[in-house]
This record gives sequence, C-alpha cells and structure tokens, in this order.
Amino acid sequence: MLDFLPSVTNYKQTIERAAAQAGFAQVGFGRVKRLNDREDFYAQWLGQGRHGEMSYLAREPERRFDPRAIDRRFKSVVSLLWPYAPPSPPAVDWRAELRGRIAAYALGPDYHDYVLKGARVVSAAIESLCPGAVTRTYVDTGPVFEREWGARARLGWFGKNTMLLTRERGSYFFLAEVFTDLEFDSTDAPYREHCGTCRQCLDLCPTQALEDGYVMEPRKCISYLTIENRGPIPRELRAKVGMWLFGCDICQEVCPWNPGAAEPGDEDLMPRLVELMALDDFTFSRRFSKSAIKRAKRRGLLRNAAVVLGNTGNRDAVAALTQVLEREPEALVRSHAAWALGELGGRSARHALERARERDIDALVVEEARAGLERGVA
Ligand code: SF4
Ligand code: SF4
Repeated sequence: MLDFLPSVTNYKQTIERAAAQAGFAQVGFGRVKRLNDREDFYAQWLGQGRHGEMSYLAREPERRFDPRAIDRRFKSVVSLLWPYAPPSPPAVDWRAELRGRIAAYALGPDYHDYVLKGARVVSAAIESLCPGAVTRTYVDTGPVFEREWGARARLGWFGKNTMLLTRERGSYFFLAEVFTDLEFDSTDAPYREHCGTCRQCLDLCPTQALEDGYVMEPRKCISYLTIENRGPIPRELRAKVGMWLFGCDICQEVCPWNPGAAEPGDEDLMPRLVELMALDDFTFSRRFSKSAIKRAKRRGLLRNAAVVLGNTGNRDAVAALTQVLEREPEALVRSHAAWALGELGGRSARHALERARERDIDALVVEEARAGLERGVA
C-alpha cells in the first residue's frame, strides 16, 4: 500500500512546482523545532524596550519560539520567497520639487494580499497531495519569526542589516510560511553566511540603527520611525530621516548582494509632499486603501511629510506648512509642521510660528513653535 503513496521527494517537487506557478522564486523546507538559541537574545531585546511601540512583538512569545504552541501537530515549515524588483529612484531633485521617497516594497499594491494568495495555493497543493494534512499560512500576519524560519529552511542567511539575504536575490523579497504536519527530509545545517568583513549597511545607515552582532535598534530605524511609530519622531532624528517619507531602503541599496541600479523610475514613485499634506481622511483612504502605506495612517504619513518638507531646506514649502499649522486637526501633524517651519526659517515661517505659539491649544505644538523660534532660524 505504502508503495503507491508519493515519496517525500515527490511531495517536495510537487510543492516546489505549485510554489513556482504561484509566483514564488524559491522554496525551503525546515523542521519545526523550538528556537532555543533566540530566546535569551529576544528576552533581552524586549527587556531593553527595543520593540518600541510594536507591542505585538511582546505578545505570545511562546508561539514565536515554538510554532507548536499554535498547533502541536506542526512538524515542518515550507518557507517561500517572493521577489520584488526595486525601481531606481526617479531622477528628480526631491528638495527642489518637494518630493519624498517610499521604500520599494511599498510601491504598488499591498504585498500582503497577493503573497498570501500565492501561499494559499501552496497550502492547497499540500492538502491535495495529502488529504487531511494540517496547514497554516502566514505572510507577516502572525507571531512568526519569518526570517528565522527562512534561514532554517535554508533560503539564505541572516545578514548584518538584519534582513534575510540570498546569493541569488539579495534581500529584495517577501517571505511567506506554510506550517504543516507533513515531514520532509530537511537538514538543520545552516546556510553559510556571506557578509564576511563587509560593513556597508552598518556604516551607511543614517541613524546608526544597525549595531555589531546582527542587531538593530528599531527605535532609531527610519522604517520604524515612519511606519510603526505612532507618536512624534524624536527631534534629534528628524534631520536624519532625510527624504524618506515611508520606510527606508538604504541598508538594502548599499548591500553588494543586491542588484545595482536600473533605469531611473517614474517620477510618480516619489509623491509630491504638498499634495499629501492636503489629504483628508477620505482622500487618504481612497488613495492608499490598497497600498501598504495605509499602515502609517493619515496622521503618520502627514507627520512624515512635514519632516521631509523641513529637510528640503526649500522655503517653497512654507505656505503648505503654514496651512497645516492653522487648519490641521491632528496635533501630531501640526507639531511636526511647526518643527519644519523652524527648519526652513524666513519671515513667513516666523509669523506662522508666532501665531501658533500664541493660539494653538496643544502644548506640544506650542512647544515646537517656541523651539522653532528659539533656534533663531526664523
Ligand atoms: S532601514 Fe534605513 S534607518 Fe533602518 S537600519 Fe536600514 S539604513 Fe538604517
Ligand atoms: S551590506 Fe554587507 S554587511 Fe550589510 S548585509 Fe549586505 S553584505 Fe552583509
């Protein structure tokens, strides 16, 4: 009877074929085991508060270390790699044109939707190979250490920029996982790491968020500050945010394992910040409802846009920032607009800050206006 059942090798080949048809470029198979070696590191990391406002990272640690806490029948993980091609930044002067950059992964439709759809095709292939098989699919959607499982499934190595890296594709890809009760002939031998003596990402990160030892301080990372962080961007880091409106790709762009720049992308890839500052709730949701950018929410995106406008050094932004300071309902956005006006300076900015200092009802905005005037740049 057993002779007629597909072999494990055939299972793997069928799953690989289904994954390729669904759009995945690589598939790895790993054994589900407790991630013992990460527990101490992670407990220390959380204890230091490095997760910032990402409180979900502190929830359900048991499930993160051992997926069998989600379902004790899990025996294997099928780790799936979905590549994306980052377009080169458009050849525009972001300061002159008042534009901001978006991390490559967030350009275009929200990856959660189409990568999850692809991962479900792989789950369905497993279930049809082996009716009754247990499967559970994740795309950045649960308490799963995706890069750890990708490394254990030998897709690549954990780089100094804390991304998973492959020799073939660098780090420009999304990960998905299918946990299952099937068993595969996977090896526990780690993928060899290829960072070697390179330190490009550590040395060129504008906020020094990357530390020796493959560690990141998310609270200093522009991706965290512009996406997950719901409150103010710390003043001392705002200038270092530079032109990044949503996310940051610097530690990927400088990595020698990533492909070099192609033709400059379309200039629409760098939105005009003054237009963004005029979005209300309705127009924000109409423009970004199918994009990963919605994660920042309107108030977060406008906060970021104000910071980038302040970093342009271009006083053409003063009128838009003044309008925000006078009409925007969100104090978070007004306070960053006040900071930006303080950076840009000039008579009009000074008047706007004086009015805000006298009239604004929010203490944070009043404080930013006062600080902007005291910086003496107005
Ligand atoms: S995403 Fe940007 S800020 Fe964050 S670690 Fe990489 S280079 Fe630094
Ligand atoms: S830039 Fe260098 S050190 Fe950083 S991840 Fe890439 S290869 Fe590793």
